[in-house]
Amino acid sequence: MSDMAVTREMFDQVMVPNYAPAQVIPVRGKGARVWDQQGREFIDFAGGIAVNCLGHCHPALVSALKEQGEKLWHLSNVMTNEPALRLAKKLVDATFAEKVYFCNSGAEANEAALKLARRYAIDTHGPEKTQIIAFTQGFHGRTFFTVTVGGQAAYSDGFGPKPADIDHVPYNDLDALKAVISDRTCAVVMEPLQGEGGIISPEPAFVKAVRELCDQHNALLVFDEVQTGVGRTGALYAYMDLGVTPDILTSAKALGGGFPIGAMLTTSKIAAAFKVGTHGSTYGGNPLACAVAEAAFDTVNTDAVLHGVREREAWYREGLEAINAKYGCFKEVRGKGLLLGCVMSEQFQGRARDFLLAAMEEQLMVLIAGANVVRFAPSLVITKDEVAEGLARFERAVAKVVNG
Ligand SMILES: *Cc1c(COP(=O)(O)O)cnc(C)c1O
Repeated sequence: MSDMAVTREMFDQVMVPNYAPAQVIPVRGKGARVWDQQGREFIDFAGGIAVNCLGHCHPALVSALKEQGEKLWHLSNVMTNEPALRLAKKLVDATFAEKVYFCNSGAEANEAALKLARRYAIDTHGPEKTQIIAFTQGFHGRTFFTVTVGGQAAYSDGFGPKPADIDHVPYNDLDALKAVISDRTCAVVMEPLQGEGGIISPEPAFVKAVRELCDQHNALLVFDEVQTGVGRTGALYAYMDLGVTPDILTSAKALGGGFPIGAMLTTSKIAAAFKVGTHGSTYGGNPLACAVAEAAFDTVNTDAVLHGVREREAWYREGLEAINAKYGCFKEVRGKGLLLGCVMSEQFQGRARDFLLAAMEEQLMVLIAGANVVRFAPSLVITKDEVAEGLARFERAVAKVVNG
């Protein structure tokens, strides 16, 4: 089967049509570069949507994968395993958390967080305490529970009756939150920087006030750090820079550096509500995923890499501001660390996708976050040359869009 000719047309023939992938089919990657079937080279500023935190085929990850791949792949949770225990210990040592639950994706980590919050609230405070408050434009995954907690009804409509008792308020709007929170609130769920929603940072005072409101009403604060976690914003987790500690934190995307894994972190007191049999996953915490994630975690959780993220943020901001000074196409460049967004100016409203398509033509992979933001989520260890070359390509793409 390995010599079967593969073309983009096959996608439309054999795949469920829920995606509209680009025309190119990448076959190989190294660092922040990717090559397609024809050998065309691309610079990767997308990072597989904030996943490839160490670029493509980082030697530490390849070696962990090979080593574990020849030892033991999977057991199920009928048994525990060494890589899972080592990774859990490292996560606990590095964060507020005392307990870890492993799964395979961000949505699953959030599904676990939501179920745990509900079970804890019901066990501790009674059956009425089920309200979940989340934020407009928030994104938490695509299972039915997580997509309903997400703040875009368009993604959760059309599937029949939704999980109940979920309310949404605007991000950074304390009064709106005050109006709906009560002693019936089980949890407030938020991204400590909205990613998919458009690269929107929280006001530091807002996050602190959310924490206080949760405490007043015995509600849990859940931080979805699926996109912001594992070094993305320049801290190991974004909460560390905000001076606010959540009760439950979810991590995925960069956690495996490209290998699927998710994790939910919490305190011993809250974790106790997940008694034997209350929740689970066949693959969750399997040795192969955990071995790769351990290597990714060890590599990212160093001063050199975390500091390097701030340094790279400056390279990007400088380069993007210079492009904007010439073309005036962005209202602002926002975000933190290596999760950055260029917001379209009035003249280019709704046209972020045109910039993405023009960038592809210039052999540069970028992302969008809604119709008005071009998003960058590159490797945390992208080199200065790769950034410079990618920005040069981006400038050519911008020029093409601006000049029609
Ligand atoms: C990507 C993302 C998710 C969903 O993760 P999956 O691995 O696609 O299930 C959840 N929350 C946030 C903040 C994300 O960015």
